[in-house]
Amino acid sequence: MRPSAAALEPYDPAFSPVEVILSANENNYGIPPEVAPVLAKAVTEAAWNRYPVPLGGELRNQLAAWHGVAPEQVIVGNGGDELLFNFFLAFGGAGHALVSCPPTFSVYGLYASMVETPVVEVPREKDFAPNVDALIEAARTATLVVVTSPNNPTGDLFPREGVRRLCEACPGIVLVDEAYIEFADPGSTVEDMLGEYQNLAVLHTFSKAFALAGARVGYVLASPAVVAALAAVRQPYSVSVLDQAAALAAVTHRDAFQPAIQAIRQDRSRLSNMLGGLAPLGVRVWPSQANFLCVRVPHAHEVWCRLRDEHSILVRDFSSTPGLEDCLRITVGKPEENDLVVAALTSILKGE
Ligand code: PMP
Repeated sequence: MRPSAAALEPYDPAFSPVEVILSANENNYGIPPEVAPVLAKAVTEAAWNRYPVPLGGELRNQLAAWHGVAPEQVIVGNGGDELLFNFFLAFGGAGHALVSCPPTFSVYGLYASMVETPVVEVPREKDFAPNVDALIEAARTATLVVVTSPNNPTGDLFPREGVRRLCEACPGIVLVDEAYIEFADPGSTVEDMLGEYQNLAVLHTFSKAFALAGARVGYVLASPAVVAALAAVRQPYSVSVLDQAAALAAVTHRDAFQPAIQAIRQDRSRLSNMLGGLAPLGVRVWPSQANFLCVRVPHAHEVWCRLRDEHSILVRDFSSTPGLEDCLRITVGKPEENDLVVAALTSILKGE
C-alpha cells in the first residue's frame, strides 16, 4: 500500500441496529407520501439498460433552473461525499494546502490525507465560534478552504461576511458545505454570491432535507471553471440512472418536502428546550440551524452506550473528538422519537 493509504483509519459511522435512529442526521420522515409513487414510477421507468448521462442531463438542468444558474455551473455526484473527494482530487495534493475549521465534518481530513494534502487547521474558539480573522490569514496561501454552514456537529452557520472575505483573500477555492442549509433560517445560503466570486463553490445534498440518504446524490454550484475541474476528475458514471431519477422526482416535487422540514425546525426548538431543562443534571445544549443538536452531558461515552444498549436509541458520540469532550450529537427526529431520547437521557442522568 501507499504509506499514506496504509495509515488511514476507515470512516466509521458507528452504526448498530436500534429502534430509534438519531445518529446520522437523516430525515426520519422519509419521502412524503404524495411523492413516493412518483419517485417509484420514475425509478421503474428509468433506462436501467443504459449508462447514465454522465453530468446528469435533466437533473442538472432542473437544478440549474431551481438555483438560477447555468447548467455549466452545476455538477452532481454520488452523494456530497464523492464531490468532496473530487475537490481534493482536483485541487489537493502535496503542496496544495487545505484550510479547515475544526471541530467539523471529519471526512475533509480523511480525504485530504488520501491524496496527501497538507491540512492547516484553524480551530474554533469558545462556544465553537470560527476564528474568521485567523481563517483569512491561513486562506491567503491555501488552495482550498472548506467551511461548513451549518457546521456538523456544532450546528452554527458560518458568517456570510466571513465567506465574502475568504473568497477575496484566498487564491484558491472556497467551498461552503451547505449539506444542512434547508433547515436553516431563510436567506442563510451563500449561493447568491456565486455571481460575484469565481472561486466560490457551494455543496448541497439530497441526503438530509430531501430524505434520500440511501440514494446517494449531492451537487455543487460553482463557476463553470470549477465545475469543469470537478468534471475532469470524476468517475464518468458515478450517479446511477436510478439515483438521478429519484433526485429529479425530489427536485420537481421539492415543495412537498417543506412540511417535514418545518416540522423538524419546530421540533428542534422543542427538543432544545427540553434538553435545556436538563441543565441541573449537567446538560448543555448549543443553538442549531441544522437537523441536529450538539449536547454536552456528563460521562458522554457511557451515556451513549446506555442509550443504545438499554433504550435502543442511537445518537452520535463525539466525546473523543478534540474540542468536543463529553459531546453527543442528536438528530432531530419525529416528535415521539425526540420525547424518547429526552426521557431516556433524564433517566440515565438521574442514575435510575
Ligand atoms: N457534508 C456534511 C457536513 C455532512 O454532514 C455530510 C453527511 N454526513 C455530507 C457533506 C455528505 O453527505 P452525502 O454524501 O450523504 O451527500
